[in-house]
Amino acid sequence: MYNDNNAGPARATQKSFDIIPSKTVIAESNFQHKSLCCFSCNIATGCCHGCSFCYVPETATIKQEARLENILGLIPEAWKEERLAGNHWGDTQWGNYSFLREWDEDEFKKSLKAASRKVDSLPSDGNRAVMFCTTTDPYQTLAIRGNPGKTTILNSHRRNMVRRSLEMIRDFSDLNVRILTRSPLAVEDFDIYKTFGDRLLFGMSIPTLDPHWSSVYEPHAPGPQAKLRTLEKAVEAGVNIYVALAPTIPDEGESELRETIRTLRKFNPVTLFHEPINLRAENLERIETRARILGRDVRSQVFQSRENWREYAFGQFDMVERICQELSVPQGVLHQWPDKDLASKGGFMKMKQMQAHRDHGSRLEGDLREAAEREWHNQRIPWIQYWHNTAERISAWPGKNRVVQHQTAEILPA
Ligand code: SF4
Repeated sequence: MYNDNNAGPARATQKSFDIIPSKTVIAESNFQHKSLCCFSCNIATGCCHGCSFCYVPETATIKQEARLENILGLIPEAWKEERLAGNHWGDTQWGNYSFLREWDEDEFKKSLKAASRKVDSLPSDGNRAVMFCTTTDPYQTLAIRGNPGKTTILNSHRRNMVRRSLEMIRDFSDLNVRILTRSPLAVEDFDIYKTFGDRLLFGMSIPTLDPHWSSVYEPHAPGPQAKLRTLEKAVEAGVNIYVALAPTIPDEGESELRETIRTLRKFNPVTLFHEPINLRAENLERIETRARILGRDVRSQVFQSRENWREYAFGQFDMVERICQELSVPQGVLHQWPDKDLASKGGFMKMKQMQAHRDHGSRLEGDLREAAEREWHNQRIPWIQYWHNTAERISAWPGKNRVVQHQTAEILPA
């Protein structure tokens, strides 16, 4: 643990990077409706990139706070006090901690064997893949100011763990691998990726091409240009790639999004995953805090209520779909991730009620209600059900015939 006093005298930031007594293993993935993987391999608890919208604190780390506090010297006293005061430091301090797991080759091998036995009983939309990583980034830099020795130890440990686990999956199983990162450090492992052939897909998360917005939403991650150069190098190295346009932010309009998709399309990704920002725990507060520090206004009004959020989310899905058609993104490449909350008809009708009041100064009744009902039954729910159907919407994998996807264009309004 250390204090990052360069953050300014008023806001000396405490950070904690270390190795904890948990083993890096392959575990069944908790993802639903994503078509990313069957298994995950998470090398750390926490993530140095500290994305302000990140869902991981709510879904994974805050449940481990008490256990981590019991590891001597790991968690700053101020963070423990925060929890006693009713806040989750796992959430408020997101980005300020990353605890690498231990490497135990026997344990990893056991988990690899178990995954190999189980894979055929799992939904085929996981593409038999182990994902690096689902709750952290496999290529993060743990920099401990004033302690170059420990910095080197931690970063070598991270690197060796990722490389060795990849080699073992390649040599002792027939599982596939999906890498997802925001970091150009991945280039250091392209030599291993190449030995996987079509068994590995390498992807980067690129929500925006604007470095100013990137520093609000992905504060400690490398900037968009560095990510694009990494994708370029992957293509040059002959590595199969995909991109996660995730999440698209409310601050950018159609022209910025078109430019982003046009740029990403040039890399010919196998899949272009997309989702808007979903509301989880404290992520709105993290986004607003980060914007305040940088002196930027974010369009947080789209998160003011569930109805506002639904309108933004549906709007983003429609816009990305429209732009992909306009730019002739090949069929089967775009893969949308609608959140499960969007599948609520009650929620949809409340959104329509809000729009009727705002746009027509009236209640949702008569023709307006009928139109909303039609939209739900003919367009929205079939579209959502398609993306939530694990048998139908399988993301593309190199070497496999691409799945001919549902023609969403026909059911979404232009
Ligand atoms: S890189 Fe991924 S896991 Fe890390 S903070 Fe960002 S979204 Fe979360």
